[in-house]
Amino acid sequence: MEMIRSVREMQQRALEERRKGRLIGFVPTMGCLHAGHLSLVKLARARADLVVLSIFVNPIQFLPGEDFACYPRPVERDEALCLAAGVDVLFYPDNDQMYAPDHSVVIQETFLSQGLCGASRPGHFNGVATVVAKLFNIVMPDVAVFGQKDAQQLRVIHRMIRDLNVPVEIISGPIVREADGLAMSSRNRYLTPAERQDALCLHRSLDYVESRIREGERDVETLRNELASRLAHVPSARVEYIEFVNDETLRPVARVEGAVLVALAIRIGTTRLIDNTVLRS
Ligand code: AMP
Repeated sequence: MEMIRSVREMQQRALEERRKGRLIGFVPTMGCLHAGHLSLVKLARARADLVVLSIFVNPIQFLPGEDFACYPRPVERDEALCLAAGVDVLFYPDNDQMYAPDHSVVIQETFLSQGLCGASRPGHFNGVATVVAKLFNIVMPDVAVFGQKDAQQLRVIHRMIRDLNVPVEIISGPIVREADGLAMSSRNRYLTPAERQDALCLHRSLDYVESRIREGERDVETLRNELASRLAHVPSARVEYIEFVNDETLRPVARVEGAVLVALAIRIGTTRLIDNTVLRS
């Protein structure tokens, strides 16, 4: 496995591969890798000759007061996981490589990024869209793989590549969960043992909604109230949002009809966790 830290070197490597007609598959991450990330590597591997995984904790997608400074960066462990997963190139730039001190161009998505996480993290998706666009220009992938875990991010990236005619195919991977249902996340390591138990409320809420849909309930207000009262019993949980939105437009719906994304953001103690499922009726 090659480890590349320089933007110029990564671009040269990508150009070389493309000249040889080899397909590049790309998995962008912020590191602290887990089986969710590695499932995306597998999807990339199936579609590409060269698999590039990037690790970059992108400062411009964090708001002041968020966990940028303390975001876990277990570099050696990540390197070993990439090697074992069959990653060909680990692209691991530092901040100075990625951003000039006076960088001033951003990509702004103005529709899909308004609600859900965008409402409580203003500017977050501009940071995401900007860094993904930059990484696409550096890694030059044919195929890039993103997780459904970050459902809104996935849709924003789709919209960006459509609206800016970026010649990259986006594929998505399903949410990978721990044995007890908790969605894998680099942030799970912030949880205390008691909070780890409480964190199951996200997955259980989604299971509950699915069971109510099977019973025939379609009214979103009823479902949201039921979820809120169940979550009120979880000691460390503070609901940021419980949203039922159209899976394409991400606009709120009043009834569960067609494809509806149920998305949750819940603080467990000080740790903000998200999870989601798509209901199709
Ligand atoms: P992150 O390192 O959190 O920025 O995530 C990098 C990529 O991995 C994103 O496309 C995420 O959606 C994806 N991802 C994170 N957690 C999971 C998971 N539990 N299952 C599947 N994909 C995931």
